[in-house]
Amino acid sequence: MSIRVRFAPSPTGMPHVGVIRTAIFDWLLARHHNGKFVLRIEDTDRSRYVEGAVDNIIGALKWLGMDIDEGPSAGGDYGPYYQSERLPLYYRYVKYLIDEGRAYWCNCTPERLDKIRKEQQAKKMPVGYDNKCWNLGLNGEPGDGVHVLRFAIPPGMTTTFHDELRGDITVDNDELDDFVLLKRDGFPTYHFASCIDDHHMAISHVFRGEEWLSSAPKHKLLYDALGIEPPKFVHVPVILGPDRKKLSKRHGAANVLEYKQMGYLPEAIFNFLALIGWNPGTEDEILSKEQLAELFTVERINTSAGIFDIDKLNWMNGEYIRAMPLESLVERLRPAMSEWGWIDDGFEPWGKEYVAGVCALMQERLKTLVEMREKAFFFFEEFESYDPKGAKKAFKGDDIIDRLSAAREKLEKTEWTVVGIEAAIRETAEKFGVGAGKIIHPIRLAVSGISAGPGLFEMLHILGRKKVIARIDKAIESL
Ligand code: GLU
Repeated sequence: MSIRVRFAPSPTGMPHVGVIRTAIFDWLLARHHNGKFVLRIEDTDRSRYVEGAVDNIIGALKWLGMDIDEGPSAGGDYGPYYQSERLPLYYRYVKYLIDEGRAYWCNCTPERLDKIRKEQQAKKMPVGYDNKCWNLGLNGEPGDGVHVLRFAIPPGMTTTFHDELRGDITVDNDELDDFVLLKRDGFPTYHFASCIDDHHMAISHVFRGEEWLSSAPKHKLLYDALGIEPPKFVHVPVILGPDRKKLSKRHGAANVLEYKQMGYLPEAIFNFLALIGWNPGTEDEILSKEQLAELFTVERINTSAGIFDIDKLNWMNGEYIRAMPLESLVERLRPAMSEWGWIDDGFEPWGKEYVAGVCALMQERLKTLVEMREKAFFFFEEFESYDPKGAKKAFKGDDIIDRLSAAREKLEKTEWTVVGIEAAIRETAEKFGVGAGKIIHPIRLAVSGISAGPGLFEMLHILGRKKVIARIDKAIESL
């Protein structure tokens, strides 16, 4: 059997991490089996359609390096890949289902449906359609604005469907209501369109959110009525915050593209999301897309909720930054550095060597790319003030000016190498009979304005003697 997996988002907003995690499972299964990763846009709910949402979905997949084998932008033999362009296909099944007694037109008004729902709720009964129009033989037309088409659930029976993780699940048909296949506007519901499309697109596996589990028996009944074999279903668990509450801003952004803005690397996001709700069965968690694809199996998807832990993502992103060749890090940081006004397109006014030197020094210390701005600004910008908390500690003592001046004097004369700089600082400390920290911290604050950063000697070396001396002078003046 050829493996064809579809990612079927609705273009109703920004690409949510949960939705993209499902897409990652789709992609991994497809790549594991050398199968196809298909993108299908489920745009039949016209009231929820958001302009630009499709571009954002495709943009997110692209950013994450997930190549699409078939879809709106990629083409393919099973298109069109927008459901809104597939209406004639859905309509082909309408007559068949009506003739078979498995679907019927219903002209109940939204007001009536609302009324019966409220009555059912008041009586604490299960809510659902009361089958009023069943057997009335109403004549409707798709999109006539009056009728919906409903599926006729066979009463008094049970339905068993299979979930790849949970096994067989049986429900009583009487718990299911005659759900809508076509809406008044002539567009199909998710249930109708997705079943037909999964069949017509020869989909072998469907990964979808757990919230669809309760609809799965309806789909099984629909497949049976249409006489078609369902794909394999895998209902994937939701993603929660570490407090086990619904994922929200408090836990980190829910929109994948925001992570791009926040300076995360796509390979880290992909790795991180792939491990939410799926266990690779390895000790090592840092895994490339190719490794993940090789390891991916449905059986190791969990049935319990996955946890989105931003601390883990930060750790992982830092690991990816550290593992990156310096040249790549420079290239990744380049657009941001030019946006911050640090460099132009040709690394000027600093030159590539200087910029690369700074990146090398910062590589160990960055968790995200944008952190560079707050942690390394002093390599590229002058600053007017010193971190007040740091200043309280580092710029204190009656002899602070003496210590800074003595260090300045040594730094002015020492050989401008990391070793030479270190010697100058240590000799100054000895001269004052104090620990090296008493010189290192004030100098750090004087030259960077902040109290934390890369190794001081390397940092001074890159900044250059002229700038270091000038900044120490400025600090002395401010004291
Ligand atoms: N369009 C559905 C959604 O966005 C897709 C569910 C599925 O993958 O079948 O929830």
